[in-house]
Order: sequence, then C-alpha cells, then structure tokens
Amino acid sequence: MHRVKEIISEQYDIVPAKFQVIENVRFVYGCRCGEKPVTTALAPFILPKTQVTASFLATIAVQKFEDALPLYRQAKIFKNRFGVPFSDTTLSNWMIKASEKLKPFKQRLKERLLEQYLSQKAKAKNKDRS
Ligand SMILES: [Zn+2]
Repeated sequence: MHRVKEIISEQYDIVPAKFQVIENVRFVYGCRCGEKPVTTALAPFILPKTQVTASFLATIAVQKFEDALPLYRQAKIFKNRFGVPFSDTTLSNWMIKASEKLKPFKQRLKERLLEQYLSQKAKAKNKDRS
C-alpha cells in the first residue's frame, strides 16, 4: 500500500491557566568588623511590596474589565481552583495601584488619539478646499 493523499482535520485545544510562584532571591552581605549589613537590590516590581506580577495583574484586569468577571468571583476561582489565597480586597487594591501606574500611559494615549483626530480633521478640511 502507498499513501494516496493526506487529509487534515483541525481541533481546538486549550492550555489552562496555571499559577507559578517566582522566588526572588536577595543576598545580605555582612562584615566581621560590625559594619551595617548590605542587602542586594531587588529587581523592579510593577507594584513594589506586593506579591503580584505584571502578568497576573493583566489577567485580573482583562477578566474584570473585558470579561466582566467581578473581583470577588476571581478571588474565589483563584482560591478554589488553584489554591491561591488572595482576597477580593487585595485584588481590588492591586487594580487601584495598577491604574495609578498606568496613568502616564493613559495620558499619552489620550494625547495620541487627540493628535490623530485633529490631523484627520485637518486633512478632511484640506480635501474640502481642493
Ligand atoms: Zn567591614
């Protein structure tokens, strides 16, 4: 027997979300002379002194604002399905802090959209004249 032709069919599969814990290691250096110990710098975090990564924040924001999934339900899902114990209050605080971080981007986006709008308007005006 020889292969006559190839028939391809497609199926959609999904890779389910999964949590991972990222350990950020810092070292403390001391000197025997009694000098104050020195701690190595921490890599920059999107929200310092929290346990959330930019990716986790983005997921929460998309689920809340795009998928209309309230924070209390997200907190419940994270806890029940993944064993991740953040309260809806914590998620809410993260969203507030993240929105403050994003303010300069929002402002710049507004400016760019306004520039585009005005430029298109000017072009349309020039077209009318010619
Ligand atoms: Zn020393």
